[in-house]
Amino acid sequence: MIAVAECPSCKEGQLGFRLCANRETVVLLCENCALVWTHPNRLGAEQARDPLHPDFARQHPQLQLRSSRWATAEEVTAWGWGAYLLTPDDIVKQEPPEVD
Ligand SMILES: [Zn+2]
Repeated sequence: MIAVAECPSCKEGQLGFRLCANRETVVLLCENCALVWTHPNRLGAEQARDPLHPDFARQHPQLQLRSSRWATAEEVTAWGWGAYLLTPDDIVKQEPPEVD
């Protein structure tokens, strides 16, 4: 599992990229409380979605977590979220510009 952040809801699990049943859509799923976030830019506790809520399937028909699995880096990139795979360490490791 590729972890993105600590869960803002339960504060115990990590949020990881989850590939939905359609093998295309990627969401963020807490490994501990199983709440879902639909975008890495909106990871507040108030933006959590409960996949077991009766309205969830109607509001998010493409987000089927039954038979979902953790996404690979390639799948996250294909979904357009490759930038979110960078960690702060990756950014620090980039070469500074030459100054002379
Ligand atoms: Zn959680």
